[in-house]
Amino acid sequence: MSGNGRAIYIAGAGIAGLTLALALAKFGATVVILERNKAVQEFGAGLQISPNARRVLNQLGLDRQIAAKSLEPSGIDVFPFRAKRPLTTLVLGKAMVERYDAPYVVMHRADLADVLYRACKRFANIEIAFGVRAFDAVSHARGVSVTADEADGKSRGARAFAFVGADGVNSATRVNLLGGPESSYSGFVAWRTTIPMASLQGAIAPDRTTLLFAPGYHAVCYPLPHRKQVNIALFARERAEAAFGPKPPKAPTLPWAMLPSPRFEIITRAAKDAWGYWPMSTVTTTEWHQGAIGLVGDAAHAMLPFQAQGAAMAIEDAAILAPLLMTEPDAASAFARFAALRQARVEKVRKLSNANGFAFHLEWPFTLGRDAVIALQGPHGHFQRLDWLYNYHAAPESAIAGPKRSESPNPTP
Ligand SMILES: Cc1cc2nc3c(=O)[nH]c(=O)nc-3n(C[C@H](O)[C@H](O)[C@H](O)COP(=O)(O)OP(=O)(O)OC[C@H]3O[C@@H](n4cnc5c(N)ncnc54)[C@H](O)[C@@H]3O)c2cc1C
Repeated sequence: MSGNGRAIYIAGAGIAGLTLALALAKFGATVVILERNKAVQEFGAGLQISPNARRVLNQLGLDRQIAAKSLEPSGIDVFPFRAKRPLTTLVLGKAMVERYDAPYVVMHRADLADVLYRACKRFANIEIAFGVRAFDAVSHARGVSVTADEADGKSRGARAFAFVGADGVNSATRVNLLGGPESSYSGFVAWRTTIPMASLQGAIAPDRTTLLFAPGYHAVCYPLPHRKQVNIALFARERAEAAFGPKPPKAPTLPWAMLPSPRFEIITRAAKDAWGYWPMSTVTTTEWHQGAIGLVGDAAHAMLPFQAQGAAMAIEDAAILAPLLMTEPDAASAFARFAALRQARVEKVRKLSNANGFAFHLEWPFTLGRDAVIALQGPHGHFQRLDWLYNYHAAPESAIAGPKRSESPNPTP
């Protein structure tokens, strides 16, 4: 397939926007990303990348770069509140590759963003405009008119085949251009930090992910050996008034904190006040497009991160939308087919994430039932339960790998 002269504008150089740009560029599209920040920036800390997403990244030719900056944990140690030993260790590592043909890895967000950005820079047909102050897009019968106020004060205007909002949970594309809903507060906040491995005093295995349950909160911890650090994400329920109060707290104030819990104590002592604070919002809408303007990633479907799938869904989105935008006769039908292919799966993942949030935060005696089920399912129980999630092939090899010609760096548009 040739680059058929299609120009696609994307708002946002996050994981969704950069992955979509790469997938489109492989087909020879002319891609312009409008990013409000002055550089590619990934806030927060670590990211788990499951095989369904990793497969797409591999198809985009990024396998080696990701392997160089990530860890394949051998398993997930699951600790009920105050337990001395894990209830179970869910097997990952080689078993994931054998079953799903792609590894399950953890890495720093900034490292993934860097891999994607460097890959984009190798394509002459991807332009990233940083520091964009505002943009507008109007859909016509034959495409879309785009205007953007750029960092240098100049204004750009262009006609394009499609405009894609990959501008995150508070997407201006969704709210301003499509008249869609604002995001809504989820009732949960996240606390994120990275701390030196050495300061954790053996509380966390150096080659595995650790999942700590507690009444009303939970934590996910995994090593980032390339940075000699451990990523900690701690999640707790919080009322909206407190979550968005005038002065965000410096460190987590946890329900049930009066009960001693050695692992949480070691973590909070090691982290001191170096936490990032994140009230988490979600987006639920089925209006993912109007005419030639559409949404991907968190802009379309931000969800709670309790199955670690938000970025994975954004990556899958990119793999599915790119070939549609290059082959459908017009952008509206590409977006309509995209929504039809994606919405049921995204909703299923959202429900699973919500259910995990409920289970992870249970209080005694309900924890007894939860822990009995986890123990009964055993170290391989998650395979059958999550085959539908991890075994999903977002794009057949031929679709996303693009034409041979574009596999060399800097193909001309
Ligand atoms: C605590 C936590 C842990 C998580 N862990 C995982 C995990 O382990 N695995 C996983 O798969 N997912 C995880 N997620 C979810 C994941 O972080 C998101 O789903 C993912 O980052 C969404 O990517 P995105 O590109 O759609 O949006 P974003 O990452 O938000 O990127 C949006 C981009 O658009 C830009 N932008 C915004 N507005 C404008 C504008 N008006 N003009 C121009 N540019 C604009 C932003 O600057 C940004 O660059 C986690 C989320 C949280 C909160």
